[in-house]
Amino acid sequence: MRTLIKNGTVVTATDQYRGDVLIEDEKISVIGASLDMHADTIIDAGGRYVLPGGIDVHTHLDMPFGGTTSADDFESGTIAAAFGGTTSIVDFAIQYRGQTLHHAWETWQKKAEKRAVIDYGFHMIVTDLNDRTEAEMDALVSQGVTSFKLFMAYPGVFMLDDGSIFKALLRTAKNGGTICMHAENGGVIDVLVQRALAEGKTAPKYHALTRPARAEAEATHRAIAMAEMADVPIYIVHLSSAEALEMVTEARDRGLPAYAETCPQYLFLSYENYEEPGFDGAKYVMSPPLRERAKQDQLWRGLAFGDLQAISTDHCPFCMKEQKELGRHDFSKIPNGAPGIETRMSLVYDGGVRSGRISLNRFVELTSTSPAKIFGLFPKKGTIAPGSDADIVLFDPNAEHVLSAKTHHMRVDYNPYEGRRIKGRVETVLSRGKVIIENGRFTGKAGAGNFLKRKPRQT
Ligand SMILES: [Zn+2]
Repeated sequence: MRTLIKNGTVVTATDQYRGDVLIEDEKISVIGASLDMHADTIIDAGGRYVLPGGIDVHTHLDMPFGGTTSADDFESGTIAAAFGGTTSIVDFAIQYRGQTLHHAWETWQKKAEKRAVIDYGFHMIVTDLNDRTEAEMDALVSQGVTSFKLFMAYPGVFMLDDGSIFKALLRTAKNGGTICMHAENGGVIDVLVQRALAEGKTAPKYHALTRPARAEAEATHRAIAMAEMADVPIYIVHLSSAEALEMVTEARDRGLPAYAETCPQYLFLSYENYEEPGFDGAKYVMSPPLRERAKQDQLWRGLAFGDLQAISTDHCPFCMKEQKELGRHDFSKIPNGAPGIETRMSLVYDGGVRSGRISLNRFVELTSTSPAKIFGLFPKKGTIAPGSDADIVLFDPNAEHVLSAKTHHMRVDYNPYEGRRIKGRVETVLSRGKVIIENGRFTGKAGAGNFLKRKPRQT
């Protein structure tokens, strides 16, 4: 089975040129200025960018949280991802206290394997670290689950103490795994939350007001310092504030392998959203919370100059009806999370590339190549090159559309960017050589996604 993509502009993290791309079965086989070869299917990409499929390394599909479950499962969530130009995700399996890591992996594998329409991998959330768990971490790394997420927030639920975090870091220094850190000072936040509730402050905005940027910066600094002492790289997830970014920048300036991602919501939404009328602020309740608009330029600078290495989504949708409503009278009971798996690529293109904040190559690097490299998927994923998987997006830089819950494919009853007009649109998407989005229609199938066995860290 051969597919030829003709007349497009191929864009990778480093190059941009007019070129044709020949796909044989699941892989890219030949790239040339003008290929005149037999193919079963020819796709005309004139006027389009030919991009490597997006890689979203932070999603929460079918995830239990606060007495409910995130609204997208692995089928609806990965279909929405595909519509948005994302062809690989790395989701999170959760080890609950008393359980083995293996049990957690099996549980999430079952959620994904018959449903995912694109390729998927897992990070393992570790909440209970003991000798047995540490040995299991080694086994998981060799089986392709090469990263572990730890929490410095949510005491009593997910949070690990510093000693356990340090032990996990030491273990990954030996086994080639990577620690991903949710960096917020959970102890401080819990005190602030209890104090606010005692004062009758129950509206959604108090979610943000009880999670100060300094609590994120402090934990980010502590996490990086522990990784430095363990002599191992670290990856900070969903970095939201300029204060936390300063800690990453300071560490990188000293030559430390500190990595961090941010998410579109921290670039395009801000604290003011919590003050929308009625209970609407609940749409944006996520952790870390949205921050001051005035400091967003610093995040953009971090993206442009390399102190931030990836843009992921932290997609974790909860409907306003029946889910977010659980916290109508108590912000601390609002399920944390928001939808974004479908809107990442066009938002960052429109608000980042078109606005001149980042280059087109940097856009590809942040949304695909760099996360592929950090998480052991490159060069199978994350670029357009002979031998790479044919995960390809045809992107029309001139097509306009309006983001809305009425037209999105995420299974959630609101869109945080409702009404936002975007220039630049995902048109056609191929996953391992198969067209799965064509003319606004999904043509893939549930269960077609493969488990991504990722490589251990090289550095
Ligand atoms: Zn998350």
